[in-house]
Amino acid sequence: MEEALPKSARRYVGVDIGGTNIRAGVVDSTGHIQGEARRPSLADAGMRAAIARAVDAAAEAIENAGYTVKDISAVGLGVAGALRSREGICIFSPNFADSRGVQILGPFREAFGLPAVMLNDVAVQTLGEHRFGAGRGCSNMVMITIGTGIGGGAIIDGELRIGSTEGFAEVGHMTILPDGPFCTCGNRGCWEALCGRDAIVRRAIGKIQQGNKTIITDMVDFRLASVTPALIAHAAEQGDELAVEVLEETGYYLGIGIANLIQLYNPEILVIGGGIAQAGRWLFEPILRTVRARAHMVPAATCRLVPSQLGDDAGVIGAAALAAREAARLEASRPPTTASADPER
Ligand SMILES: [Zn+2]
Repeated sequence: MEEALPKSARRYVGVDIGGTNIRAGVVDSTGHIQGEARRPSLADAGMRAAIARAVDAAAEAIENAGYTVKDISAVGLGVAGALRSREGICIFSPNFADSRGVQILGPFREAFGLPAVMLNDVAVQTLGEHRFGAGRGCSNMVMITIGTGIGGGAIIDGELRIGSTEGFAEVGHMTILPDGPFCTCGNRGCWEALCGRDAIVRRAIGKIQQGNKTIITDMVDFRLASVTPALIAHAAEQGDELAVEVLEETGYYLGIGIANLIQLYNPEILVIGGGIAQAGRWLFEPILRTVRARAHMVPAATCRLVPSQLGDDAGVIGAAALAAREAARLEASRPPTTASADPER
């Protein structure tokens, strides 16, 4: 804990509500986590119960950081799913069967009496990477996260942009291969149906079942259901040809989507986060090759492709950055003359 902070330093609570874990942290104005707490998401117990646990986690994080609610300026949340964030409502979360219409912000406002704001988890991570991580100082940045699905966020002219119905987060459902594999959304050949976690595993299992030799079968003791992207990356690291091929193909399709995003947004930097990004050079090299081959009409060479810098902390730090943005907005709108209603915030 840093004692050198001035008394006036602001602190925010950032909460990351994922499918497996809920994590809350008190974050200072320089992006440092000062105290945190976790709870299991327990998807089967429903989303309302998960939100109640998230409130608990936030209270515990404040205590663990050595503060009381009075020391906190605002609460920010990142939630995986489609949201009507200004109303505080979840439209759909893949993690909770009963997510439709759940009021997320209400319980936080009631418990703490603080301003509370939320956005899709990837939008929040994008904000975090822009303020305190890989995108610091950039005016134009795109972030994607590759995990179970693919999500995205964009900073344009220094501001987070989420689209008219917060749809930028769903960039994983752009069509990459028209007749490609079916996607959970009902479409075919979506980016995440080609490059999400399950797609990578399926690609590996398909090649194994065709009789190709690989050390992966030994690594999982012939239980193919245990194959994971991390394991495939590990096998690639040991020179396993099948694993390298799986990541090559995945990187190729990732590269096509990334080239499209570079073409559309002409960003200075494209940040890649999420668990799959940890496959490192085996994925980054084919991505880079594809981007160089496909994004000609914009200076793709000036767009840096970098891994997320905040890693697992991006959710909590980004949610706190969202809270800070809200606190600043409220402060700016305080003089009675202006009734600011910037639709983006
Ligand atoms: Zn889809």
